[in-house]
Amino acid sequence: MAELIDGKLISSQIKDECKEKVAKLKEQGIEVTLAVIQVGEDPASSVYVNNKKKACEYIGANSLSYNLKEDSTQEELLKLIDDLNNDDKVNGILVQLPLPKHFDEDEVIRRINPDKDVDGFHPINVGRLSIGEKGFVSCTPAGIIELLKRSDVEIEGKECVIIGRSNIVGKPMSMLMLRENATVTVCHSRTKNLKEVTKRADILIVAIGKPKMIDASYVKEGATVIDVGIHRPDPDSKKLCGDVDFDSVEPVAGKITPVPGGVGPMTIAMLMSNLVNTKF
Ligand code: NAD
Repeated sequence: MAELIDGKLISSQIKDECKEKVAKLKEQGIEVTLAVIQVGEDPASSVYVNNKKKACEYIGANSLSYNLKEDSTQEELLKLIDDLNNDDKVNGILVQLPLPKHFDEDEVIRRINPDKDVDGFHPINVGRLSIGEKGFVSCTPAGIIELLKRSDVEIEGKECVIIGRSNIVGKPMSMLMLRENATVTVCHSRTKNLKEVTKRADILIVAIGKPKMIDASYVKEGATVIDVGIHRPDPDSKKLCGDVDFDSVEPVAGKITPVPGGVGPMTIAMLMSNLVNTKF
């Protein structure tokens, strides 16, 4: 039986560390403030935005909310970002994605001052990560590194296979694992003989977006398996599942993240960690 990697516990430890840091900054008269911009009223986005505001409240940071109407223009959004970039009281700026279709998301991300880009999506931060410079790292992959380190999973010299090459998970994940001195292989939808590759992994990170696709036949005995996927298998079901077939893989793996309670809670914790590590 695999050991469970407890993302709920580790994420609350990280939020508590952030809380301590905010308290110390307050003693020096420094306030920490996150500006959150939402465009439109997509219910899922509203839930994410609310959770981010609650996390700010928990760590003692201020959160400023900006709600733009669904039919607002690119120029209005860019003007708001410019104002927040120029506001010294704002440390972090977050635009909740996805934006309505008429927006150019790339231009919006590029407009955020990279030193306030707590999501780590700005090309400058992506570049900093790839050349090993300090900068903001996309929260989900940064959270996975914390899960591994705080669960005593050795990374250096290990074979790490990542399935998925998205800009927010797979690619930054590969850079982070390289930085930790793993031997990294990235698989994707055009990879041939996927099982042969994944069976080499000491650490298998799965970010495919396909419910329960990875079963025991993809996993080496004793491997650490990190499941990034989040799915509701059917709309009426309250149960969530990941990209990994947990019941099949758990008896084979050495350590494994559950869904829910694995990678999921880490994303907001790392957002808070990025926020308290902005320039003051
Ligand atoms: P994405 O759709 O952008 O990327 C999926 C990747 O999987 C692509 O690179 C594609 O090449 C690869 N892929 C697809 N089918 C494949 C196949 N059959 N074999 C091999 N590779 C294949 O997804 P994403 O944004 O990286 O997200 C992945 C999953 O993680 C989703 O389920 C998403 O909901 C979840 N997610 C969770 C969090 C979190 O906070 N826990 C954050 C981001 C994403």
